[in-house]
Amino acid sequence: MKVLKFGGTSVGSPERMKRLLDIIDPAQRQIVVLSAVSGTTNSLVQIGQAYLTGDKNKAAALISELKNQYNIFIKELFTKQEFLEQGKEIIDYHFGLLSNFSNDLFTSIEEKIILAQGELLSTTLYYVYLKEIGVPSVLLPALDFMKIDEDNEPIVDYITAHITPLLNKYPDNNLFITQGYICRNSFGEVDNLRRGGSDYTASLIGAGIRSDEVQIWTDIDGMHNNDPRIVKGTQPIAQLSFDEAAELAYFGAKILHPQSVFPAQKYKIPVRLLNTMDPKAQGTLITNTSEKDKIKSIAAKDGITAIKIQSSRMLLAHGFLRRVFEVFERYKTSIDMITTSEVAVSLTIDDTTHLDDITAALLAFGTLDIDREQTIICVVGDFGAEKHGYAARVLEAIKHIPIRMISYGGSDHNMSLLIQTTDKVEILRSLHNRLF
Ligand code: ASP
Ligand code: MG
Repeated sequence: MKVLKFGGTSVGSPERMKRLLDIIDPAQRQIVVLSAVSGTTNSLVQIGQAYLTGDKNKAAALISELKNQYNIFIKELFTKQEFLEQGKEIIDYHFGLLSNFSNDLFTSIEEKIILAQGELLSTTLYYVYLKEIGVPSVLLPALDFMKIDEDNEPIVDYITAHITPLLNKYPDNNLFITQGYICRNSFGEVDNLRRGGSDYTASLIGAGIRSDEVQIWTDIDGMHNNDPRIVKGTQPIAQLSFDEAAELAYFGAKILHPQSVFPAQKYKIPVRLLNTMDPKAQGTLITNTSEKDKIKSIAAKDGITAIKIQSSRMLLAHGFLRRVFEVFERYKTSIDMITTSEVAVSLTIDDTTHLDDITAALLAFGTLDIDREQTIICVVGDFGAEKHGYAARVLEAIKHIPIRMISYGGSDHNMSLLIQTTDKVEILRSLHNRLF
């Protein structure tokens, strides 16, 4: 059984929604995971913010604007009056719910309920559309099987245990539709898998049912070997290993939610990145194997802050790094890159929420240098310890640009560089021209 996930632009208009059947084959037993209609989750975030700040009027205005868009959407989606009526009821229900929150009792629990409405709307509307055109399908409520634990980690065994009976209930049905992104947390409340989380849903379901393949359908023909918004002539990468894909997704390739790789990797389920606008294009296949002797792709992640801790106490001491890391652990801030010398250590973070507390705590170790507006450039390829020449090729290509940090050897397939964000465009183009 395959899992097919369609992103926001793939369901972004009634026309697109209807065209999904060019790709979905209703004769195959499969699970279709849908994102919210593109733009909806962003609007829901704003609505939640408006409530959180006590601005009920603003929330009401945003809600009515979004509702109008959906009223137009269903007029194009449905042809028959009976189904248009059903569409209207769905919209009234979800927007009624959005309107009925009050400012005083509004917490992050209510906010997450708001965020969940996008996927609930897209899947229900699509389900009714399939009904109108006579394609039988089953709507599986993701909130009945998608679950995260106290540490916000999804529980694959729970998913298996709860989705299997649902599927078994419909032995003669082929097409199952469900919501990406949304889940329940350890308190049973409505929660989500963070922005872009529908990919993660697909991979988790794929793992949960030990699927043959997970397909992520978006609006680009696979993961490209560089950022297509910045560099001309980028190419889709035909094949990636799970590790390479995770690295690229984390360090900037927007096409895939970084964590979504891991469930599929654990259960060895191939993941294909495919293009809804060009279904015949080969896309990117992510599997367990990695191609040898190749530099495969470049990605960039902005918004990085570098912290250098200089300390004479580090020299010949043990336990120094542990104490430094403890500070980041205390403030739940993850470290991306790290380089060390005998008298200093530099590391990077992207979440600066607790930077002031972190800096105050780190001052106990020595002097600090903090550089904001940095970018991590991640070069992915076959960089095993027995290899030579690859690092030299990377550095040769960018010898005219100042580098703040270099990280090499952390894994066999990645080399990362920290540079000033103002140099990013030049470095991406330069690497592209010289490496590919
Ligand atoms: N709708 C959610 C978002 O926009 C989840 C997703 O599309 O993957 O982040
Ligand atoms: Mg996405």
